[in-house]
Amino acid sequence: MSSVLLTGGAGYIGSHTAVTLQADGFEPVVLDNFSNSHPLVMDRLAQITGRDMPLEQGDVLDTGWLSQVLLRHRPAAIVHFAGDKAVGESVAQPLKYFHNNIGGAVSLMRAMVQATAEGGWERPPALVFSSSATVYGDPASVPITEDFPRSHTNPYGHTKLVIEDMLAAQIAADPSWRVGVLRYFNPVGAHPSGLIGEDPEGPPNNLMPYVSQVAVGRRPFLQVYGSDYPTPDGTGVRDYIHVMDLAAGHVAAVRSLLQTPGSFTVNLGTGRGHSVLEVVRAFERVSGRPVPFRFTDRRAGDVAQCWADPTRARQRLGWCATRGLDEMCADAWRWQSRNPQGYRAG
Ligand code: NAD
Ligand code: UDP
Repeated sequence: MSSVLLTGGAGYIGSHTAVTLQADGFEPVVLDNFSNSHPLVMDRLAQITGRDMPLEQGDVLDTGWLSQVLLRHRPAAIVHFAGDKAVGESVAQPLKYFHNNIGGAVSLMRAMVQATAEGGWERPPALVFSSSATVYGDPASVPITEDFPRSHTNPYGHTKLVIEDMLAAQIAADPSWRVGVLRYFNPVGAHPSGLIGEDPEGPPNNLMPYVSQVAVGRRPFLQVYGSDYPTPDGTGVRDYIHVMDLAAGHVAAVRSLLQTPGSFTVNLGTGRGHSVLEVVRAFERVSGRPVPFRFTDRRAGDVAQCWADPTRARQRLGWCATRGLDEMCADAWRWQSRNPQGYRAG
């Protein structure tokens, strides 16, 4: 069985990917410092998979420790999720983001070089990196293909751009590196068991967790940011993708790197957009709960519409998303209604 190391594996996307890798015959190893996740995730993973998943608790910034972890587990691949992800916080505290996200990626890559040399390995493990559609900035048109120009509008997005460039430079310097860059669109939903899901601390910045918390009664109403966008109903349009589809995309990326030579950058999205009001209506329908909302001003930095052209992922990885908006909302609701306070209430 091939082992796969998941940095940030206890987080939202990492935990779903761990379950999916295991179901596909890999042996996932979770590495996390729990800076934005809860140790209870490990119990939930055991409940879902029927076995204790190996955990390495520590910080990706600790290069020496990380290289020992690599030598211990000898992973065939690494998926690098670990990092900070709140856009607003990155504007207020840019150094936190440059340090943890860019510093974390440098540390991981150096640990990979170190372990490869010390272990006498033929080449470093394959590497999958969590990038984001944010690297497209304000796209000139939709759907977005991977060769659209990249830009950034905040320090968080800047870190994703820099890390993509660092990876490209390393591949150019050492062709034994195999890297898959995955640009996620808008991950939502949860594992169908309702045991793991998205658990933001404080008021959610993102639409789906906010809607879920309104539906469960934790917050009185949703603020809809803007009603005058040039979209069919005036609200922002995004490419929401079920986190289980996204997780399957990671498994496909790992398989592709292990089986087919070369590196790649692909969009992981569904190829279709939904407006804020469509999401609200779908959530009300599947949950049977009202989601009161009020229109308010546009949020600074938001784009009107954003959705992927997922053709390259289909061609290179043989992967495409299969779950629709109702399933995303139903699974998000199962998680939220069974865990109204997230992992904190146990
Ligand atoms: P998350 O915060 O739930 O997971 C990240 C995990 O990394 C957390 O468990 C956190 O404790 C851990 N972590 C952070 N810094 C660490 C460090 N220095 N050492 C060890 N562990 C550390 O976030 P997520 O939503 O699962 O996102 C995973 C990745 O995907 C991130 O890189 C994020 O930028 C990227 N991404 C997320 C989205 C999204 O909407 N969720 C969209 C595009 C890209
Ligand atoms: N949105 C909203 N109210 C909220 C959060 C988000 O109206 O409380 C809107 C936002 O303006 C955007 C869409 O929902 O049009 C998705 O926002 P999210 O932050 O989830 O994703 P992103 O903007 O990063 O793609």
